[in-house]
Amino acid sequence: MKTTINKLDKISIIVPCFNEEESLPLFYKETMKELHQIDGTEYEFIFVDDGSNDRTISVLKELSIQDDNCNYYSFSRNFGKEAAMFAGLQKATGDYCVIMDADLQHPPKLLKDMYYALKVEQYDCCAGKRMDREGEGKLRNFLSRSFYKVIQRLTNMDMSDGAGDFRMMSRVMVDAILQIQEYNRYMKGIFSFVGFDTKWIPFNNTERVAGETKWSFKSLFGYAMEGIVSFSTKPLKLAGIIGVLLLVVSFFFGGYLLFQLLLQNHVSGTYVLMEVILLVSSLQMIFVSILGQYLSKDYLENKKRPIYIVKESNTHHV
Ligand code: UDP
Ligand code: MG
Repeated sequence: MKTTINKLDKISIIVPCFNEEESLPLFYKETMKELHQIDGTEYEFIFVDDGSNDRTISVLKELSIQDDNCNYYSFSRNFGKEAAMFAGLQKATGDYCVIMDADLQHPPKLLKDMYYALKVEQYDCCAGKRMDREGEGKLRNFLSRSFYKVIQRLTNMDMSDGAGDFRMMSRVMVDAILQIQEYNRYMKGIFSFVGFDTKWIPFNNTERVAGETKWSFKSLFGYAMEGIVSFSTKPLKLAGIIGVLLLVVSFFFGGYLLFQLLLQNHVSGTYVLMEVILLVSSLQMIFVSILGQYLSKDYLENKKRPIYIVKESNTHHV
């Protein structure tokens, strides 16, 4: 009797879903089509319903009844895409994990190439890089680009524009990501933080298949601030730098005043007052900056809140 010695590789497909009732059936269909083309693999879907208030949960229930390889976890409220991705990675059991948006903006066609990059070319990560921003508003486009320029400067990490969350990762990389338990999660920073060799595959942006984007300007701004604050303390250092510059100015000015006094010239009281203010405020800025840096470290460490709470799931291990 012929036995197969090679165990099939399992690909886990993690899908954060927030109000995606319309996109999900199509997403499942299209993705399955591509999965069937990848030989020697089995798959599982991990759908994470991020507190949707439409019929997303019913659609997921139907899918899990139809296909045993579909699992879902439904959050008790909207915890955000970051938390949904983390939950998905925690629940995934595959040798390879891929994170995909439910709206088909991440082309399932790339799955085969991604798997090849990991399996054959031995990369630990293969990520899609969006080459354009078609289908997005002009203002949003401009703001996003500017944000990535700023963050690149501030953090010295590779968080380039277009590098989204669409990526396939090896088990080792996923385990590394799972070790990072911080509450303030900024996934793009975490991907870059854990390292590993990444292959980039370009793809073109398309409009979402159904529904609309879940990101308002307010949430994008919050997301941008999160990225800067969680991965950089440079803004705090800036206060220190300004403080030092002011201190230098105050030294020169003070020196000048002292010189005038030594020459027994008249020194206006206003100048003396200015010098005192300059000196004291520069010292204050320097110490505020130092204090801020101590605080920021402790503050970020101490928030050990749960990252999400699962309300229900079709598996027993919640
Ligand atoms: N998403 C989520 N929680 C949220 C917002 C979005 O799980 O609070 C999911 C959403 O269902 C989709 C993915 O994250 O699968 C990307 O969201 P969207 O398409 O709205 O973002 P965009 O493509 O416009 O950046
Ligand atoms: Mg989208």
